[in-house]
This record gives sequence, structure tokens and C-alpha cells, in this order.
Amino acid sequence: MKKEFFSFVALLLIVISKNASIEGNLSAVPNLGFCESKQKNQQYEELYKHEQIWEIHSREGRKLDQKKITVHLIPHSHMDIAWLSGMEGYYQSRAKHILNNVIEELWKDTTKTFSLSVMGFFRRWWNEASASTKTIVKHLVENKQLDFVGGGFCENDDAISYYEDVIENMENGHAFLKKELNVVPTVGWNIDNFGHTIGMNYLFTQMGFHSNFFTRIHYQEHSQRKEKKELEFFWEPPTKTGEPNKLYQFLQYDFYQWYHCPVGFCFESGRCFPQGESIGSHNVERRVGQFVDYFRQAASKYRFDNVFHFFGDDYTYEAAATFFGNLDQIIKYLKDHPELNMQAIYSTPAKYLEYIRKQVVEQNITLPSSTSDFLPIADIPNSYWTGFFTSRVHLKKLAKDANQLSQVAKTFHSLLMINQLLASNDTEYADAIQSLTDAISYINHHDAITGTSPSGVIHDYMSVTSNAVRKMLNVSYSFLFLTVARTSTKKSPKSLLK
Ligand SMILES: [Zn+2]
Repeated sequence: MKKEFFSFVALLLIVISKNASIEGNLSAVPNLGFCESKQKNQQYEELYKHEQIWEIHSREGRKLDQKKITVHLIPHSHMDIAWLSGMEGYYQSRAKHILNNVIEELWKDTTKTFSLSVMGFFRRWWNEASASTKTIVKHLVENKQLDFVGGGFCENDDAISYYEDVIENMENGHAFLKKELNVVPTVGWNIDNFGHTIGMNYLFTQMGFHSNFFTRIHYQEHSQRKEKKELEFFWEPPTKTGEPNKLYQFLQYDFYQWYHCPVGFCFESGRCFPQGESIGSHNVERRVGQFVDYFRQAASKYRFDNVFHFFGDDYTYEAAATFFGNLDQIIKYLKDHPELNMQAIYSTPAKYLEYIRKQVVEQNITLPSSTSDFLPIADIPNSYWTGFFTSRVHLKKLAKDANQLSQVAKTFHSLLMINQLLASNDTEYADAIQSLTDAISYINHHDAITGTSPSGVIHDYMSVTSNAVRKMLNVSYSFLFLTVARTSTKKSPKSLLK
């Protein structure tokens, strides 16, 4: 290795450490990014009045073509790595219970499925799981009951995250999945981002994804797409070579349900907005009637006889038995009443895509294409989601500084390895890189770098990232010094410490 390179690394580390000014960042967390709009909440409340919604569904749904429809129920839990609470708080209070309870339900019934996207929590849970639990999980994966979608450490933001950070976040989760379960995700899943970019989808195609399930576009565009049956389409990011490059995209029928259940069909106290009336023998006919009316209308806006629908909400399925139990009642009732000409099945994006691929071939169905971004967005008139582009500037800057350090530190690490300057059992440097990678993933979560968390949680993002930056700088300086010393003494870096 050349001495010039070490000088260059040293210079970069000094610049990054000065730029990061960690202590200053932590003490200056402005309360700018989190707000609530009373007026907006009132508008949403109007949208969610059950009785009015079901009256419309009932009136409109029964006028429609009564063709046979298969409804794909997609159980999932949107587990923000942090939002109103930090990562540790969410893991202890919610995520680990959800994972325990969901795995138990899937194991009891082989027809049940679950789509899981956030590896930051799953990796932590997996590392704490017993050998027998891991065997069960492997079986559920083989049986295609537990499906990994997205598969990043978290669901990073589209608009603010730098492309290198997106790659770090995704690689972080994918490397874990490949190593532990030999799984390589092929389905994109950024369901809570505040708009979407074609740049992110270009990266997805380079990661081997063939499809992407997302939710938020401008409300007027959603409305137009619904009327033209264009909620499913191909998004075609341009390539340098001009080669065809496209991803299948799915948008949910009910715009305001984003990645949620149909209104009234979310079954978990305190987690659903709004919570649905439980289904039992006393009301199953009426409740399934509402379900059928809703999906008749949904089906009329798609080109296929199969309809995909998210069945989950933020941190749902902690009461997995209750949630699945209610959905079981719908599935059974439809099975026992073939005259309704509708079936519901537990499904995953992969299973749904198998069905529609078949229909595309058999019925020669074509999908439209798009080459534009879906940013900025508005969800109701005069309500653009743009504040997050510029809020929490200290947090955004720290994310950029952490990224710069990561690129230099990884290059330095590679050179140490290539030149056999790291002992094979030396994990100190690799541990520091992993901590920094986790922190970069964490700070690029769609409620982190966007600034949509309350100040206490913003402080947590910054504290975790600052600590990882500090650790990486210390280790880098240490190895830099030892490696330079070694070039004159010819001893291994570690032996110089003894
Ligand atoms: Zn979210």
C-alpha cells in the first residue's frame, strides 16, 4: 500500500470528523418536522364514516358485473423501525411480540401467510430465537407462508435518502437474509413513503426486483388511474444503454386506505384506524355482504379477476390470533356460499403475481407504462406533502456525513484485507462498519431523515448515528496509525498494541 493513500484516508477522516460536529448536532434538535392539522383530521373523519361508506358500497357494488373474483388477503404489519418511539422501544413493546405471535399462527395453520419487510427487527428477533424456533421459521419460508418483501434493514425514504444510503440499507437486510435463510427478495415494498421516485425503482431493478408495491401518489392521479384501470402498471426507469427495464407496480383501490385493510375490516384494538366490528355467527352474513360489496367495486377498477388487498396497519398482528380469526370467518363463509361468486385466500405478493401472470398470458392482458416520478404528492386539495424535503436540517446533514465516512471506511477496510493487514479473527473493524451501516439504515427510515418523528425520537436517530460515527472514526484512526507504523516495523497492526 502506498503512503499517499494513508495520507488521503487520514485527510478524509479529519474532514468528516470536523464536519460531523457531533456534539453540536445533538444539542440542536429543532422541533420543526412533526405537526398535526386539526382541519385535516376532520376531513379524514368525514372520509371514514362507516355507515356512509357501506351504504355507497352496497348501492354501487350490487350494480356491477357479478363475475367470479378471487380476493388475495395480504396479512402484514407495518413496523416502522422508529416513529413515535425509538427502535429499542418499539422492538421491546411491539415488534418482538408481533413476530412471536405471527409465527405461532402460521405454524398452526399452513394456509395462513404473512409478508414481512423490516429486517432491522427480524434480525434482532432471529438472533434471540431458539434453535427450534429457527427451524420452524425455515419451514414456513420453504412453505411460502412467510414471505420477505423489500427486505431492507428498514423501509428507507425515496425523496431524501442518497442512493448510496438506499443501497446500504437494502444490502444490510439482504445480506442477513441470504446468510441465514438463503432468501433473496424480489419484490419492492416501500408502502409508507411520502411519494415515490423513478430513481428508487431504477435501483430496485438493479437489485433484481421484478415488482414494487407502493401506496402514495397524488390523489388526482390516483383518481384518474382508477377510472382508467391503471392502478397496476409498469414503471420503466431509463438505462444508460437504452435496454428495456421495467418493474410491475401496484396501487391499492381505496386511496385513503394506503396500505391498510378495507374500512371496517381491521381487527385489532388500538392499532386500527378505524377498528372493525368483530365477526361472529350473529353478524357474519351482514359483514361478509359488506366485504363482497367492497371487493365488487375494487375489482371493477382492475384488469384482472384477482384482487390484491393489504390486510394490516401500523404494528398490527400483535393480536395475531384475533386478526386471523376474523379473516378465517370471511374465508369460510365465502367458501360455504358459492352463489356469492367470490373467494378469499391468504396470499403474498409472489402468489398474487403468479395468478396475474397466468391471466396476462391466457387473456392477452396488457398493462400501461409510466416513466415519471410520483413526487410531490397531495392527499387532499391544497395539502402537499413537501415540508419533509427541508425540515430537520441537522439530521439530514448527519446522515450525509455518516455516508461519507462509511464510503471511506469501507474502502480502507477492503485495502487492509487485500494487503493482509487484518487478522482473520479480528472483528473490531468489521463490527464498527456494521454499527455504522445499521445507523445509516436507521437514519434513512422514512420517518427519520424526513423529520416526521417527534423531537425525542429525532434525538435517538441522531444519538445512534453519532455514536456509530464516533466508533468508526476511532477504529479507523487506530488502524491507520498502526498500519503506517507497520510499514516501517513489518509487524502486524495488532501486535503493535501488545
Ligand atoms: Zn411508516
